[in-house]
Amino acid sequence: MANIDSVPQTMWHQLPVSKIFERLASNPDRGLAVDEIAKRQREFGLNELIAKKGKPGWLKFILQFNQPLLIILVCAGAIKALLGEWVNAAVIWGVTTTNAIVSYFQEAQAEDAISALATSIVTEATVIRDGSKTKVQSTQLVPGDIVLLASGDKVPADLRLFKTRDLQIDESALTGESVAVEKNIDSELEPEAPLAERTNMAYAGGFVTFGQGIGIAIATGNHTETGKISSLIEQRTDLTTPLTRKFNQFSQNWLFFVLGMATLTFAVGLGQRSFKDAVEASIALIVGAIPEGLPAVITVTLAIGVRRMARNHAIIRKLPAVETLGSATVICSDKTGTLTENQMTVQVIDAGGLTYTVTGQGYEPEGQISLEGTEDPTDRLVPNTALSECLLTGLLCNDSQLQRAADKWEIVGDPTEGALIVSALKAGFDPAETTSEYPRLDSIPFESQFQYMATLHASRERGQKTIYIKGAAEALLPRCVARLNPAGNLDPLDRESIEARIDAIAQQGLRVLTFAKKSVSASIQSIDHADLEADLVFLGLQGSIDPPRPAAIAAVRACQAAGIQVKMITGDHLKTASAIARRMGIRNQVKQSIAYSGADLSRMNPSDLANAVTQGVVFARVAPEQKLRLVEALQSRGEIVAMTGDGVNDAPALKQADIGIAMGSGTEVSKAAADMILTDDNFASIGSAVEEGRAVYQNLIKAICFILPVNGGESMTILISTLLGRELPILSLQILWLNMLNSIAMTVPLAFEPKSTGVMKHPPRPATEQFLTANRIKRILAVSLYNWTLIFGMFEWVQQTPWGTLPLARTMAIQALVMGRMIYLLSISQLLPATIAKLRGSTDRVQGAPALAIGLVGAIVLQIVFSNAPIINNVFETAPMSLELWAICIGASLPTIAIAAIANRFDPPK
Ligand code: ADP
Ligand code: MG
Repeated sequence: MANIDSVPQTMWHQLPVSKIFERLASNPDRGLAVDEIAKRQREFGLNELIAKKGKPGWLKFILQFNQPLLIILVCAGAIKALLGEWVNAAVIWGVTTTNAIVSYFQEAQAEDAISALATSIVTEATVIRDGSKTKVQSTQLVPGDIVLLASGDKVPADLRLFKTRDLQIDESALTGESVAVEKNIDSELEPEAPLAERTNMAYAGGFVTFGQGIGIAIATGNHTETGKISSLIEQRTDLTTPLTRKFNQFSQNWLFFVLGMATLTFAVGLGQRSFKDAVEASIALIVGAIPEGLPAVITVTLAIGVRRMARNHAIIRKLPAVETLGSATVICSDKTGTLTENQMTVQVIDAGGLTYTVTGQGYEPEGQISLEGTEDPTDRLVPNTALSECLLTGLLCNDSQLQRAADKWEIVGDPTEGALIVSALKAGFDPAETTSEYPRLDSIPFESQFQYMATLHASRERGQKTIYIKGAAEALLPRCVARLNPAGNLDPLDRESIEARIDAIAQQGLRVLTFAKKSVSASIQSIDHADLEADLVFLGLQGSIDPPRPAAIAAVRACQAAGIQVKMITGDHLKTASAIARRMGIRNQVKQSIAYSGADLSRMNPSDLANAVTQGVVFARVAPEQKLRLVEALQSRGEIVAMTGDGVNDAPALKQADIGIAMGSGTEVSKAAADMILTDDNFASIGSAVEEGRAVYQNLIKAICFILPVNGGESMTILISTLLGRELPILSLQILWLNMLNSIAMTVPLAFEPKSTGVMKHPPRPATEQFLTANRIKRILAVSLYNWTLIFGMFEWVQQTPWGTLPLARTMAIQALVMGRMIYLLSISQLLPATIAKLRGSTDRVQGAPALAIGLVGAIVLQIVFSNAPIINNVFETAPMSLELWAICIGASLPTIAIAAIANRFDPPK
């Protein structure tokens, strides 16, 4: 049994590796046995960080009151209490508390939803267990597990390394050291070496930025060094976004204004009426001017947006992205796998100066390789050594596997490599036999910055070993010195004709891989990039098709129609990328399809670069580091850039982009740097996230445009009636009823509003746009003014009728306002336009009707209770209404239709 607790922390980096294996009862080659793993999981628990719970619930609840608006309300209640108006005080406090409770729960729910999404992304770790290499969820790791690290991985547990190859780990989260640390297996370390200097250890939470390594897990979960710190750091989800920050800023300024007006009201009131009434007037003004329900609506709307995006395969990691997505002006997307299916099939092979076509589809190893222009399968033709070496290289220099799943063939690993296995199978190779005939001795894995992969194999010729290499022509051709001919002899290399062939294949949109080999002396045990610098023998080319995703083509079109530019960024060949971009309709704003290569870009000065990134739509053979420059150049032109990435080196570009988008299948490094993760890698999901982002913003704006005019109408009413020395048409408690209960019922449906059909038909909103544009301010003022007319007019009129008591006049003024509000709600909701479109024959479903109906019915029931429940009559000083009086209120509210229509004309809801 693992004997861990007896090992002091300072020892792990100091003990000889063999001792560590002894203590942890593990084995470097076989790892742990299955039953042992189960036992250790029971003993040590899951390998996950249990962060300290955030603030306790009661504290969060109390903190809800830590808003200037609510503090003022509490004080207003206190003043009422001092004046002996206990009922009033109790209601004000009651409503304030209700508000706090509602926003507490809404906030908690939103936080939970968002943090649940963040953790729904599982991290995998590659381990050796029971003698074989497998992938497991990193939560399943136990002390003693043998863990393989490769660049891009997140270190899943604290490991003592016992094998490394150029391993570099970014441990900044733990040590604060921003440069990646080079790791080795040196065990001569000082016992007191600080964490940052324990170079033979890899600590959980670090990111492998380069190279590979193998280590044994010595601590998991909260026992790791990160675990020890993070149990001190509390869990927190930030719920602020640019809009909520702007809104908070606005609220602060508004508050001072409201306090000023309240003082004025109080002063004027004192001159005309009793002290108590003057206090009531100023409290009513404060209560009326403050949009109490709005912050909660904003939180709910954002949370609903996050959930909708998750349903569309986009997981939001940072809440502001929900909003920023809506203002994106450029989307830079990877080609392979995001715009295309990443379902590669070799269609053309060029070897020994001859061209072959390959039939068959997908990964099914059924098809024929035949000389171009003939139908004869190769096995009936003269053997071509170059061809068979080219196919052999594809099979040996390969880290992926082909597997037969239930009813189809699948690739485990990289589809580019999978295609090569399939083409070799079509030529009659047996992968198992081949790999045992040429055992692999060492390898350099593919990394996009080098653009090739190489493996070292034993050879049949004595005294020799062979390195097989595959990669991009640009990387390999310059290193080739000869070419293998069909007879198996070396011919001089004719670079130009090979390049012409590559161009021709790439022009068809095929991804071209170049194959080469090199014989080396048998004494060589391992290979390095330096071993591949020269003297390669060119073997041939294989061209694979990778069809565009149909959904991505539609999404590209939708984005371009919405004024969002789409740019393809790829490590692939310029001609291949251009052909696919043309096929997908990716064009710039003047409908041209301009392509640049990474080499072109690197020669440009900043202003040429900014031009090129604006005009160009295809950027090929781009090194990951160049992505950062691309983003910066676009941003220098004021663009709001969404950028995808999956590799280790993409992290800086993802961080710099306004919206960094990582792939669900990508490296942990890229995911950690991203604002959003696509669970299906599909470009179409970016399109729908943008659409959703726009809809969320619209719904937020709708909520603001819906709530503020009521506050406007109420505060104008109090102010004007006070200045005119008239009775107050509404009392502070009644205003609270309106702003809290009625507002909650009527604004929550706005959060559920479906996106409008036109959401992708207009250009992106300028990123600098204030949430109160001139037109929106006009709208809010116009509707406020109308609301005032409605309240004031109804109140004054009823008071003059023979039956008009003061409570009845107030009640009817409020009912008329609410009726008008319902009409206004319908006018800004999506329901009417959607229904009209439906009647005109649109096939889109009319959505959001249930939420709206519930909201409206809820509001109506509340209003009936408001005027017709005796207890409410007592507390809120209202009066019962007969049917005729209801009819009058409804009639009075009808002009809202005209006002709403006018507002929609000069400030169209998009
Ligand atoms: P992208 O994903 O944008 O298409 P990559 O960076 O994956 O670009 O690939 C760039 C080039 O590197 C490819 O065009 C190909 O020539 C080469 N390449 C890609 N995958 C492999 C691999 N597994 N082994 C060797 N070379 C590869
Ligand atoms: Mg790739």
